[in-house]
Amino acid sequence: MEYREFGRTGLRLSVIGFGAATLGHVFRKIDEAEGKRAVAAAVDRGINFFDTAPFYGLTRSETVLGEALKGRRHKIILSTKLGRYDFADFDFSPARVRTSIEESLRRLQTDYVDLLIAHDVEFGDLRQVAEETIPAMQELKRQGKCRFIGFSGYPLKALTQVLEIAKSEIDFVLSYCHSCLYNTALVETFGPEARARGLGLINASPLAMGLLTQDGPPDWHPAPQELKDAARKAAELCGKRGAELSFIGLQFAMSNEMISTTLSGIGNREQLEKNLAAPAASMDEELLKQIREIFEPVRNATWPSGLPENN
Ligand code: NAD
Repeated sequence: MEYREFGRTGLRLSVIGFGAATLGHVFRKIDEAEGKRAVAAAVDRGINFFDTAPFYGLTRSETVLGEALKGRRHKIILSTKLGRYDFADFDFSPARVRTSIEESLRRLQTDYVDLLIAHDVEFGDLRQVAEETIPAMQELKRQGKCRFIGFSGYPLKALTQVLEIAKSEIDFVLSYCHSCLYNTALVETFGPEARARGLGLINASPLAMGLLTQDGPPDWHPAPQELKDAARKAAELCGKRGAELSFIGLQFAMSNEMISTTLSGIGNREQLEKNLAAPAASMDEELLKQIREIFEPVRNATWPSGLPENN
């Protein structure tokens, strides 16, 4: 397993992180006992970063992860979030910050988390996030309830604004679908901050929420049609070569050294082994070149998320 420095935090994260939204049955119903065995196996195989949130499965992900980490908590870097509680339930107020962490710690069966993340800030008032939520999270850091703080979301414009307005120190930023086969905007946007001030970068959804797989995206996927068409073409090319778009997609996402870790959705041991194999294998450079050419006309394609003014 390769480990990378995480900004100025002093932490070293495994290049592949365990995205535990799966444990909340977010994409499909899973066998929880198998999900817990996957967590245990991931720790044994060197994954040291696990990410969850109260929103995932409406708290189920945190509860299942907490049970799975019994006796393993000290071996890993644990991340959870606050501010988002359902599809349309957001509360970034300082009062909710304080209750949210207590609830998460109880479900996770621990007395601190390593990373605490304001979740999907584009659904909130960015000024409130920067001027109230982040300072309240700083207070939790001082109390030892979390070690490092950051925020997550989809539109990079919103994330940039929070970073600009916030007066207190922010340790890292997490975005999703912004470092994958068709989109490299995460490093293009935050690379300078990462280099100059040691801002940590976390990439999530390296397969763009199922878009970059042989089976294609779920019906609800928000990508524009041209991007879906390009992804289907890329999957067909991979099929002809006896390859899988998801495999080369994971390889590509994890290859950028500016990004400390890439969160991959893992729900069972078979998926764990498959996704662990990707960064360990050598890249088929010729196939990658052809896939990147297919995606060139839709390079950095995106879609709206959150409040209109934050896009
Ligand atoms: P993903 O892009 O890896 O997974 C998307 C889908 O692909 C899932 O259905 C998954 O089961 C499937 N999949 C995974 N590996 C596969 C493979 N090898 N072949 C075929 N299909 C495969 O990522 P994701 O699940 O969207 O996100 C991963 C994690 O990132 C989440 O669990 C969460 O922890 C984090 N995340 C955070 C935010 C945020 O903070 N706003 C947003 C998105 C994701």
